[in-house]
Amino acid sequence: MTPPTETYRAVQATAPGRLALTDLPLPDPAAGHVRLRVEACGICHSDAMTVEGALPIGFPRVPGHEVVGRIDAVGEGVTDWAVGRRVGVGYLAGHCGRCARCRRGDFVNCEQQPFTGVHADGGYAEVLIARESGLVAIPDELDSLEAAPLLCAGLTTFNALRDSAARPGDLVAVLGIGGLGHLAVQYARRMGFRVVAIARGAEKASLALELGAHDYIDSVGQDAAAELKHLGGAKLVLATAANSAATAALISGLAPGGQLLLLGIGAEPIPVSSPDLIIGERVIGGSLTGSPADSEDTLAFSVLQDIRATTEVVGLADAPAAYARMMRNEARFRMVLDMSR
Ligand SMILES: [Zn+2]
Ligand SMILES: [Zn+2]
Repeated sequence: MTPPTETYRAVQATAPGRLALTDLPLPDPAAGHVRLRVEACGICHSDAMTVEGALPIGFPRVPGHEVVGRIDAVGEGVTDWAVGRRVGVGYLAGHCGRCARCRRGDFVNCEQQPFTGVHADGGYAEVLIARESGLVAIPDELDSLEAAPLLCAGLTTFNALRDSAARPGDLVAVLGIGGLGHLAVQYARRMGFRVVAIARGAEKASLALELGAHDYIDSVGQDAAAELKHLGGAKLVLATAANSAATAALISGLAPGGQLLLLGIGAEPIPVSSPDLIIGERVIGGSLTGSPADSEDTLAFSVLQDIRATTEVVGLADAPAAYARMMRNEARFRMVLDMSR
């Protein structure tokens, strides 16, 4: 008699906008991969690219790219990561080490890199198969629920800030106080920038100041670009909210040589006036999370400066409701799945 196949629970996107709890057969890790028993997974707005079918992927697919778990099996050739080690996996699922970009050390833009929860199953599950080159070591000071949201929301904001043109003392504006923005404000403050938070409505002012912002601009009641100019112009605007109109409205608030970095993927094009870029030599760019080493730097800085995401924690079976809450912008501020619930 053959033993019953071992299974694990997962929440799959089965059709655009549809998430369903299911049981899947336990896989063995292929060469160069490890198998994790997932402990926590954050819910990110980019999960919508999978769930809503915006990317050309095949259903069913398990979303989730803020994953922390413990290795319980390693594939052939894996020597640097042992069973029992607690590790994380972010959006970039592991570089190839051989393509033209990797040969220049540009692992983020690897041409053969899958995205977690997009091209391979992600962390809305009790088990995850992960590529060795995408693994992030988790420090003991962070529990898995704390570490998970730092692997995308944390990394994306931390890395964009430290790689930007802004220097300590410069004015940095953070647009949006949500999953990414509430971390961006904390990182920017602890990195020594003059921080101004920008969001819709006056009611977020006290929260922004509590998180560490020096100033707050209500983009509904105030002319945000004029306010930035009044403060001397922003060396950097981090657009964490995927709101193209609100983002475009800030370009003229950049200081000469200032930089607008896009972190949230928006559906609408961003209208830009060429004089706003040319006169003042302003620059618009994007930032795609970071490498596993950047992730480890993010976690270390978060421990050093005592920075954590504010989270709402639910069990795996509640992932569809948690995803819906995130999509309605009601999460305060990051939804995290706890697989032990
Ligand atoms: Zn994300
Ligand atoms: Zn590569």
